[in-house]
Amino acid sequence: MDLERATKQAAAAAAAALRGARALVVTAGAGAGVDSGLPDFRGPQGFWRAYPMYQRLGLSFEEAADPVHFTDDPAFGWGFYGHRLRLYRETVPHAGFGLLREWIARLDLDHFVATSNVDGQFQLAGFAPDRVCEIHGSIHHLQCLRPCRDDIWENHEEIPVDETTMRARVVPRCPACGGVARPNILMFNDWTWVGDRTAAQRARLQGFLAAHETDPVVVIEMGAGTALPSIRNLGARLGYRPGCLVVRINPREPAIDRPHLALPVGALAGLRAIDAALVAGAAP
Ligand SMILES: [Zn+2]
Repeated sequence: MDLERATKQAAAAAAAALRGARALVVTAGAGAGVDSGLPDFRGPQGFWRAYPMYQRLGLSFEEAADPVHFTDDPAFGWGFYGHRLRLYRETVPHAGFGLLREWIARLDLDHFVATSNVDGQFQLAGFAPDRVCEIHGSIHHLQCLRPCRDDIWENHEEIPVDETTMRARVVPRCPACGGVARPNILMFNDWTWVGDRTAAQRARLQGFLAAHETDPVVVIEMGAGTALPSIRNLGARLGYRPGCLVVRINPREPAIDRPHLALPVGALAGLRAIDAALVAGAAP
């Protein structure tokens, strides 16, 4: 079957499931933001295209993102995260986020978001913060590097970065001890992440899922790859529930077992296809 027909068929089935659903769970990985112009750091080439300076320094994404820099050289550590902070603040979430919110309102769906992205795009798109679980934390929150205590606070800092050196001109400080503050993001090789905020989000998500245990639920998974499988695993767990249908939107790794559905396209194209099927189904 060709791609277009496969997408259209899956979109029609997804639309039918959404019409009969009581709740919608949106799960998102790095690919979800690509249509907003955000880099997904896929492979060293993808990362270096977004950040040529790190190619000159010979650093991979994992190496640039390593929390060790905050200890060894905080201005360099903040170079990468300060740049991303500005990028995420300035990015306009693509139209797919708005479509999801339209369906939630129109079909009266209870909803929750689980994302591995730290970019805050769902909140920026108007999703209520208490309906979002950020499993890897958020760049829009800070914690003490040590940490001297388990406080997590909102990141209102302006952190300009010299893009020729990828060094931050400002290093945020912990208000309690005056030491270096870092993003409240779970990084690679990270032993000092304060997970309390994410744990509270997880508890809300678990409560939501428990409340809908016997309801028809649709999971829409966008741009979640197999390299960091936590988001796909959540969908897989939910997919075993009777009455739960998982819709995977993924142009590179769309495979999923039936009865679940695969739309082998990007996030925005997939959501638009489902929206078109919803509109067509609603016509008299
Ligand atoms: Zn501190």
